[in-house]
Amino acid sequence: MHTTALVLFSGGQDSTTCLALALSKYERVETIAFDYRQRHRVELDARVQVLAEIRRQFPHWAHKLGQDHLLDLAVLGEVSDTSLTRDTAFQIINNGLPNTFVPGRNLLFLTLAAAVAYRRDLQVIMTGVCETDFSGYPDCRDDTMKAMQLALSLGMDKRFLIDTPLMWIDKAETWALSYDLGERYAPGSGQQLLDLMVEHTHTCYLGDREHRHAWGYGCGECPACVLRARGYERFVATVATV
Ligand code: ZN
Repeated sequence: MHTTALVLFSGGQDSTTCLALALSKYERVETIAFDYRQRHRVELDARVQVLAEIRRQFPHWAHKLGQDHLLDLAVLGEVSDTSLTRDTAFQIINNGLPNTFVPGRNLLFLTLAAAVAYRRDLQVIMTGVCETDFSGYPDCRDDTMKAMQLALSLGMDKRFLIDTPLMWIDKAETWALSYDLGERYAPGSGQQLLDLMVEHTHTCYLGDREHRHAWGYGCGECPACVLRARGYERFVATVATV
């Protein structure tokens, strides 16, 4: 029986949904993120804001929410040349991957998360990776996660569970999951959690916090915004027809 979890929490929509799920499922939940000199610091600011809002608006979750770990991973910016860490435009590079791909990023994140989980005695590592709205990132694949779970459990001689609740759902279903988690928290809180997601989570690759849409802030044009917006529109359309 798993009762404790460490959530990879970036302050984006997916990882915030994971955090809400972990808080509804486990007794003790901690969060972790990495400062790898992202071009846009708004995500790191967003996560502080999201944590504060969850504590304020969802007091039953607040008492389960423990330490937040922010690890310095500047070295990742040094070894990679991508549009997330350098001032280059978003594009698809010749191996078919977008240049937002930071090679090895999730592998490093999971390894460090496991080291923290080991020290903090947390059984589950939860991450919002997803194969459905797939950007083609090979380190988000289900097989990669299973391989990491095995490698980390063997290498640290401790049985970790890597929990990936968003792996097989699309963005519309992620919005729906947020709503359901809110309703499960307390009837009527679904919209409250949805509003928190829209207002405070950040997804846009360009770090745009100026343009406000029904689905939240962002440029509206980068691949992350397009996925988020389309998912939200499909979610709203589904709700409207029920
Ligand atoms: Zn954008």
